Amino acid sequence: MPVWLTACLIGFVVGSLAEYWGHRAMHTVLLKKKHAEHHRDNDGQGWFWEFVDYVVGAGFLLPVGFIHSWEAGWGFAAGGLSYAAFAAYSHQLQHEFPELCFWMIRPCHAIHHDNHMWKTNFGIGIDVWDRVFGTYQKVPWQRPDRPFSLLRMFRIKWI
Ligand SMILES: [Zn+2]
Ligand SMILES: [Zn+2]
Repeated sequence: MPVWLTACLIGFVVGSLAEYWGHRAMHTVLLKKKHAEHHRDNDGQGWFWEFVDYVVGAGFLLPVGFIHSWEAGWGFAAGGLSYAAFAAYSHQLQHEFPELCFWMIRPCHAIHHDNHMWKTNFGIGIDVWDRVFGTYQKVPWQRPDRPFSLLRMFRIKWI
């Protein structure tokens, strides 16, 4: 496998870890007030601004690959940014149309909000790290009574 592709995959995984631990930290030490407001509003700020928040929060990790080489540097940064874009989409989708989050058995972030969870279900794009680190909480989820629509996946608030 070429170096840039390996670095890109590592960047993607590191992005998912940054999301998990970043969100978990918001429930203990980091930006607690701002995050509590987000829980109170229970509303997504739109894909673009969510993406900006992730890049501002975890952007310090993006240049890490350059320690190895230029190729690894660009690959890692691309992987990290791709994860941030995906997580921002997943966040917005779960705030608007959680039933369309087909890649998780239950929409982890929607459940985190619906049940005012403060210690569990920190995953936004994926729920894998909650399962690994023991914070996955399985609760019944009431699927919104709406017909499935593929088009709606593109009708989220983008900005
Ligand atoms: Zn939260
Ligand atoms: Zn949220």
